[in-house]
Amino acid sequence: MSGRYWSHLLRAALDANACGGAPPAAGTVVDLRVASGEVLARVAVGGRVHRVSLILSVLEPPQWDTVAAALGGQPLFRARLLAGRLPAEVARVFDVLGLPLLPRGPAEPVVTCSCPEWGGVCGHAAAVLDALAGRVDADPFLLTAWRGCDRGALLAAVRAHARAGREAVGDADAAPPVRVAARPLPEDPDEFWRAPALPAPPARAEPPPPLPADGPLAALAPLYERLRRG
Ligand SMILES: [Zn+2]
Repeated sequence: MSGRYWSHLLRAALDANACGGAPPAAGTVVDLRVASGEVLARVAVGGRVHRVSLILSVLEPPQWDTVAAALGGQPLFRARLLAGRLPAEVARVFDVLGLPLLPRGPAEPVVTCSCPEWGGVCGHAAAVLDALAGRVDADPFLLTAWRGCDRGALLAAVRAHARAGREAVGDADAAPPVRVAARPLPEDPDEFWRAPALPAPPARAEPPPPLPADGPLAALAPLYERLRRG
């Protein structure tokens, strides 16, 4: 896969969204910062400085949790992500999940500039978009951060899903996996350690039948008993 794949994808998305028309201003882009939902930068041109903002809608925590579960459940993606890389094929995972990573649709990103001439995508905004595209190949996690989940939060969520998957498959004595969503810590610290509610047992009127003492399910007996006791 080309080392410039992410910037190609971003430029193609911007062109498709009519953000690629204006030629970049012949200025200097300084202080480009990528935050959740917004890229901010200043563009210095001929002694004047203009502020540019590129606003993108963010994915909600449950949507990021879905992404992390999909990536954490795939050995190839999981290994590369946990090594700190974001393979370009990840863009396809977002597509399959029906979630946007790159700007999508004519309203994304919402571009504003402090220059008086601004009435669309001015040269200053084009320069910032160009500068952003120039950075995403070296650090594609800028794209996830722009969409609302920075590198650290995404890798933590992928790691949690990978761990939960291993425990479900191979460690019968492990506690039920706690699904960690990419969301802020709760106000009450006790909430942090509380697992999401378990699904209701299939038949409350009569206790579930005991597991057979032998066979492949026997190894799940301790966990099963814990779930039965609720
Ligand atoms: Zn401008």
